Amino acid sequence: MPTLFIATGNAHKVQEIRAVLGSGFTVLSQKDANVRLEPEETGATFAENAQIKAVTWAAYLAADVCNLNAQFVLADDSGLEVDALGGAPGVHSARFAALDDGRKGNSPDAENNAKLLRLLAPVPDGQLSARFRCTLALTPVTPGATAGKMQAATRFFDGTCEGRIAREAAGQRGFGYDPLFIPEGHAVSFAELGEAVKNGLSHRARALARLQAGW
Ligand code: IMP
Repeated sequence: MPTLFIATGNAHKVQEIRAVLGSGFTVLSQKDANVRLEPEETGATFAENAQIKAVTWAAYLAADVCNLNAQFVLADDSGLEVDALGGAPGVHSARFAALDDGRKGNSPDAENNAKLLRLLAPVPDGQLSARFRCTLALTPVTPGATAGKMQAATRFFDGTCEGRIAREAAGQRGFGYDPLFIPEGHAVSFAELGEAVKNGLSHRARALARLQAGW
């Protein structure tokens, strides 16, 4: 069974990835490594940022520092694109609120959601279309190889989920923009629908389905 190391400190992402992949993979996360690596996400695209995370962790694990025997690193970079905002927050989804005052690091979900609602207040109801996007980067952990070699061997899998932004937050489940995102074909938010429904149609679930098909 392949052993995947999930390169994220976001426990919600780990939980969703574990649930969608099921029993065909052994899934490890930062908790198992007992260390936090937080490479700066300087890329202009989800793929570039996913690759930065995957290759940083693959280089660390290839040095065998924590003896985890992970065969692959899987990194998820994802975000929300709102059409009325020209695709924002996009790659800046995690630090959307912080962009306003130059703060470093990610912003609390509540602040990101409040900013989104504020920007969308003048936008008519029919123009609230949006989508979540996810790019997964899968990098083999190759002891003895350079980071450049592992980067060249990285594969990418994309997933999107279309929907619209609600006028107010609703629901307690999920994370990030889930209380504001109503997926196509549904009348309530991801945070109200819960994990089982979300994992059947989310951007992350679709990218993971491609990974499983292309394995
Ligand atoms: P990343 O960890 O740099 O990929 O940042 C992703 C950000 O996009 C998160 O902090 C959330 O704000 C948002 N995001 C990505 N996926 C989801 C999701 O499934 N639900 C809600 N928000 C998400």
